[in-house]
Amino acid sequence: MSKQDDGFRMMRVVTVERLAPHMQRLRLAGDDLAHFDTLGNLHVRLHVQDRPGAASGKLAQGPEDRGLRKGRSSNVVTRYYTIRRIDAAAGWLDIDFVLHDHAGPACSFALRAKPGDICGVSGPCGLGVKKAGHYLLAGDETALPAIARIAETLPPDVQGDIVIETCGPEDRLPFAAPAGMSIEWVDRWPRYQGPGRGFIEPVTEKIQACAAGKNYFIWLAGEFGAYEAFRPHLASIPKSRCINVPYWRR
Ligand SMILES: Cc1cc2nc3c(=O)[nH]c(=O)nc-3n(C[C@H](O)[C@H](O)[C@H](O)COP(=O)(O)OP(=O)(O)OC[C@H]3O[C@@H](n4cnc5c(N)ncnc54)[C@H](O)[C@@H]3O)c2cc1C
Repeated sequence: MSKQDDGFRMMRVVTVERLAPHMQRLRLAGDDLAHFDTLGNLHVRLHVQDRPGAASGKLAQGPEDRGLRKGRSSNVVTRYYTIRRIDAAAGWLDIDFVLHDHAGPACSFALRAKPGDICGVSGPCGLGVKKAGHYLLAGDETALPAIARIAETLPPDVQGDIVIETCGPEDRLPFAAPAGMSIEWVDRWPRYQGPGRGFIEPVTEKIQACAAGKNYFIWLAGEFGAYEAFRPHLASIPKSRCINVPYWRR
């Protein structure tokens, strides 16, 4: 990335795939994506139109592009998303969007997307995991793309646990993980409320078990309530060994 390059790219939807009842994958194509291809920064800022009911393909190149780039365009909003997969040489990246009940601009963009629609992407941003022998990765559907990408790229000999909370079994999306890592899926109950005890309690136990070891890394993301619930249990853990991030707030 050159000094002048703020990482902003105009991207075009090439495919739309419903992976699960509440998950839609968009493949976005753009130029010069190599600097997004890093496990050190897993996420991007997604810039989409904020006009309920407006067609999502209206972000034209030109003056509106410049407004978008400088964040000055009144009808464009920014949300954070994870690069689920990227092939920089082929010029595409995949983003998996949770289709939630109170669809905001980003969710609406994904829901209505069709090939040819345009959005902005900038970054990359956010941190990946640090090197360790034992990992705990836990989160809800919004964290699933990051957890899957991390798990698929960890060395094959690491150990650990993965816990993911979804609305139900139909929203579980398979991914590869090292043989020494268990994957536990938890159904959220009540179904459309914030993180349930069925998720918070086992993850809290695993945080404590993990922190009793030596060479570990804990990665947690999801709704703000989960972030708050885990925070006290992470207080004594060095910042170099854990990440706990609220991805959205009810
Ligand atoms: C670093 C990072 C990476 C992220 N990666 C992803 C990703 O890969 N995939 C993904 O789907 N999300 C991801 N998120 C979460 C995503 O940014 C938020 O869910 C975002 O609020 C969605 O924007 P929106 O415009 O659809 O809704 P907003 O306009 O932000 O919110 C509208 C309403 O919807 C509610 N809401 C927002 N998100 C959810 C949700 N998931 N479930 C239920 N209600 C919700 C809000 O409380 C609000 O009432 C990530 C967040 C961060 C910080």
